[in-house]
Amino acid sequence: MVVPFADLQLQYQTIKREIDAAMADVIRDSAFIRGPYVESFEREFAKSASVEHCVSCANGTDALYLAMAALKVRPGDEIITTAHSWISTSAMITHAGATIKFCDTDGVTFTIDPAAIEASITPRTVGIIPVHLYGQPADMDAIMGIARKHGLWVIEDCAQAHLAQFKGRAVGTFGNVATYSFYPGKNLGAMGDAGAVVTNDAALAEHVAMLARHGGLVKHQHQIEGINSRLDGLQAAILSAKLPHLAEWTRARQEAARFYDAALNQIKGLQTPHVAAGRVHVYHLYTIKHPNRDALASYLSANGIHTAINYPTALPFLPAYKRFGHRSEQFPRAFDDQNKILSLPMFAEITREQQEEVVNLVRDFSS
Ligand SMILES: *Cc1c(COP(=O)(O)O)cnc(C)c1O
Repeated sequence: MVVPFADLQLQYQTIKREIDAAMADVIRDSAFIRGPYVESFEREFAKSASVEHCVSCANGTDALYLAMAALKVRPGDEIITTAHSWISTSAMITHAGATIKFCDTDGVTFTIDPAAIEASITPRTVGIIPVHLYGQPADMDAIMGIARKHGLWVIEDCAQAHLAQFKGRAVGTFGNVATYSFYPGKNLGAMGDAGAVVTNDAALAEHVAMLARHGGLVKHQHQIEGINSRLDGLQAAILSAKLPHLAEWTRARQEAARFYDAALNQIKGLQTPHVAAGRVHVYHLYTIKHPNRDALASYLSANGIHTAINYPTALPFLPAYKRFGHRSEQFPRAFDDQNKILSLPMFAEITREQQEEVVNLVRDFSS
């Protein structure tokens, strides 16, 4: 049996009529750029994410850049983020003009360690970007406490965490602003690139919108120099068709995770994902730790099971950051994890039979 890592075609088949109709509407109306489909999605997504304002943009990477630009990041500013994320989070700090300060993870949840944040603050620090990695919220109580104490802003990178919650409250509502990605494989995915910035701060939302639309909200009235970063009408209509299913898809992911947890917990040396108290994990990825990761991945692959490593090299150790001269001892947890993490097949439509196949093969390997 072949078990894919994710199955976008299968998801499409379950809602084909809704998607096809949504796309036909946009084409009939030639509503390709801005227009009613984009505006509806922005309203619907703001509601779903429990925020006042949603400004859509081209992708989750631009969303991070736009959020920092709207917060008026300047050269010399230092911004703290996690050593364990997708490179967009750190790369956009540089592109916004600031300097990256990496922090190690907490060793349990794969999210940033609040104690490491405190230790990294200098007079130049302006903000913190926690990432709700794999779909589990970072410790937002501790992070917001530190931010308040030191007068820092917070951008929550929610690219992997649609509908995740910390102590009963939606991620993306703690910091000044939050960013989302709707890359096809994300929990809510377009059929191309898409992203959004969300916030409860009306002035900040307007500034983000202006930056994303050539520096002006009215045609030919450029108040500032912006960029061109927009969600197109087709993607907006597709996302609006999918959004009503997101809660049900999230429950299916959580149920699949519970099955994996119960089946894999007893295997010696293998660590299933640890969910910290008060956090609702939405399992964008189901990532285990295994001391013999590469051999396990090869064994699964040889038997038709597709897995992934998210990510094979922690950010501080990438060639892109050679200039910092980071050493493994500075980020021991992220360094240790990069050789042990393995993401197993996880998607809303995964069947019990597919999961059993994965689990049986992991057991075979371990015995
Ligand atoms: C996917 C992702 C992004 C970037 O989103 P794109 O839409 O691919 O540009 C940023 N941060 C994290 C944590 C991500 O997983």
